[in-house]
Amino acid sequence: MVTPVRFETIRSAPKVLLHDHLDGGLRPQTVIDLAAAAGYSELPHTDARELADWFRRSADSGSLERYLETFSHTVGVMQNRDALVRVAAECAEDLAADGVVYAEVRYAPELFQEGGLSIDEVVRAVQDGFREGERRAETAGNRIRIGTLLCAMRQNARASEIAELAVGYRDSEVVGFDIAGPEAGFPPTRNLDAFEYLRRQNAHFTIHAGEAFGLPSIWEAIQHCGAERLGHGVRIVDDIEVGEDGTARLGRLASYVRDRRIPLELCPSSNLQTGAAASLAEHPIGLLARLRFRVTVNTDNRLMSHCSMSSEFAALHETFGYGWDDLRWFTVNAMKSAFLGFDERLAVIEDVIKPGYARLMR
Ligand SMILES: [Zn+2]
Repeated sequence: MVTPVRFETIRSAPKVLLHDHLDGGLRPQTVIDLAAAAGYSELPHTDARELADWFRRSADSGSLERYLETFSHTVGVMQNRDALVRVAAECAEDLAADGVVYAEVRYAPELFQEGGLSIDEVVRAVQDGFREGERRAETAGNRIRIGTLLCAMRQNARASEIAELAVGYRDSEVVGFDIAGPEAGFPPTRNLDAFEYLRRQNAHFTIHAGEAFGLPSIWEAIQHCGAERLGHGVRIVDDIEVGEDGTARLGRLASYVRDRRIPLELCPSSNLQTGAAASLAEHPIGLLARLRFRVTVNTDNRLMSHCSMSSEFAALHETFGYGWDDLRWFTVNAMKSAFLGFDERLAVIEDVIKPGYARLMR
């Protein structure tokens, strides 16, 4: 008998997450504990439930700039080694408990140096935390592997340094690089040197593009910078015309993205908060999945969006009627698009994802 698709059963299904920010996924109580330990007095609330609501409400304002403001508090309490280890370990535990079997978690090391940590110390602390979290998750019966993406901030001028850092740690589970921060006024081509360096090093990278900003940023990310994946990329729908009868006509850029199977790291709940879509029913994920783009589903910031992979899948099931075969498709899409070796990706698909969904679908 087919298992009904419900939040609890979705939690038991293997899931893959490619777009999740370390500083956007803290447990509310951890923010409070770390603030107390570090003497950080800026928090708007010291009760976990009230603080969780505050993050959600502030992030709900409808603008990307306001949304990014909530990060001043999470980043503010992550300025020492112990805090970074704890946040990373809990991230791995929380994702594993949600049934995520492979995740790529990203952060910008340069944001965590206010307490005097060197950039290497930041990376080592986070990597130690992920390994600790993987061990704890395994003890709890949930196996997960975390790959790290190091981000450079668009508005700063440290992209080449961060790219070198990512390459330096590539044999220690740092699997790629990303550029994050406000899109308007900071086109990805500002950091061309970093992308050219990464390509010469045969290294992997994704670029936040086409979230709040339109097609030119997607085009630059792919055709100038050479991004393998698009962080969000949701505005690619601006290059798709849908007729009265539902037939879709793709422009040249949308065709290119689909033809080359360029993965879209879509983050539905986050997009609703930043105003990229008015409601989940109107979110372009429905159209993009129907047109068989390489769609992946992601959380972006679990604290600010009050979501998890399971809650995203459950909301998509409710809104679009997606069943197990669709949820498996999103999951296989994500694993195919991971910045791991081909043999490792295949092993997760064949040994974990397919048998996991087969159990639910028989
Ligand atoms: Zn993001």
